[in-house]
Amino acid sequence: MNYNKKTVTDIDVAGKKVLLRCDFNVPMAKDGSGVITDDKRIRAALPTIQYLLEQGAAVIACSHMGKPKGEWKPELSMKPVAARLSELLGKDVILAADIVGEDAQAKAAALKSGELLLLENLRYDKGETKNNPEFAKALADLAGADGVYVSDAFGTVHRAHASTAGVAAYLPAVSGFLIQKELEIIGGALAAPKRPLVAILGGSKVSSKIGVINNLLEIADKVIIGGGMAYTFAVAQGGEVGDSLLEKDWIDYAKEMMAKAGDKLMLPTDTVAANAFAPDADAQVVATTAIPAGWQGLDIGPETTKAYCDAVSGAGTVIWNGPMGVFEFDKFAVGTKAVAEALSNTDAITIIGGGDSAAAVQQLGYADKMTHISTGGGASLEFMEGKELPGVAALLDK
Ligand code: ADP
Ligand code: MG
Repeated sequence: MNYNKKTVTDIDVAGKKVLLRCDFNVPMAKDGSGVITDDKRIRAALPTIQYLLEQGAAVIACSHMGKPKGEWKPELSMKPVAARLSELLGKDVILAADIVGEDAQAKAAALKSGELLLLENLRYDKGETKNNPEFAKALADLAGADGVYVSDAFGTVHRAHASTAGVAAYLPAVSGFLIQKELEIIGGALAAPKRPLVAILGGSKVSSKIGVINNLLEIADKVIIGGGMAYTFAVAQGGEVGDSLLEKDWIDYAKEMMAKAGDKLMLPTDTVAANAFAPDADAQVVATTAIPAGWQGLDIGPETTKAYCDAVSGAGTVIWNGPMGVFEFDKFAVGTKAVAEALSNTDAITIIGGGDSAAAVQQLGYADKMTHISTGGGASLEFMEGKELPGVAALLDK
């Protein structure tokens, strides 16, 4: 896949209307009060928006929120986003009452250079997730004949939706700064990594990471396994894992990967086992292949932690996806924390992909020490699997 894509600085937007796909899918208070509980995604979109406005574009921003599945659910309106965006930018944000209907059309037509219009929730229309060509064309038409499409919602580039891929059939398509950074750093690490490239793979299940393990075993110099998926490998090694997370259907796959990888693969030798899946469970350190009945591995052990941190220290690039243990429980966050610390101390390019991994690094306080934390969970996984991302493929090549 070609990651070398045109970006906002490669195209003239002055005096033009720009259809800008953002990721404003922010978490909202569960009580329906319309309070945004974390505005990180809105803040992340600001550099591209500000750049476009400064260049003299009229910006028509759009995003999805939640999963209304074509239903006009008022609790998933973009209204709170418009308000927060306006506060952060210190300027008016015009909110359309619909997506591509009469109100949006009138407001888009009247929109002037330096002004910002926000459309309603794209997924209020079923055409969005179905990548309906008429809906995509209607979106593109809002930007007019000399319009430009800027894609900056990395979190949805793995989906071929009307606003992420379909519109590119009707408008010249380039990336915003967020996607540009994802392509440069993750794309760069996959295509031409500074070596040695160390991949750290963890999280809960082998089955959700098959593609990533496969692809990174091809590319990386070392692949380190931790988290719940390690126990399926331990059984593949002939071990006993007690009540640990085990995917029986994937034992053969684990054997295959072990054979394919040779000494590229590092598996945990010791484990912190607990007598229950609970924050205050009793814990003991045992061999990963000899976990007693009634006990379950919830974190990598101290010997493994040291070996993994040593492997990271000499790396040129580290790609990390999936926590080393149940980091949501303090008692079992030790391994994940130590690896995060090791990453923060190396000179390597450090890349964090995956929703829970990003959350873990943030929660443990290492976010600003990493080269790059991907803004897309599912998208970064598919990226690391080496899959073609429809929302990236749709952009103009450099
Ligand atoms: P990501 O979102 O970064 O791709 P995953 O979704 O694959 O990561 O995995 C994250 C989850 O894995 C976390 O909720 C964590 O608690 C869980 N996990 C890690 N280690 C274990 C383990 N040993 N047993 C059970 N769950 C685990
Ligand atoms: Mg996850």
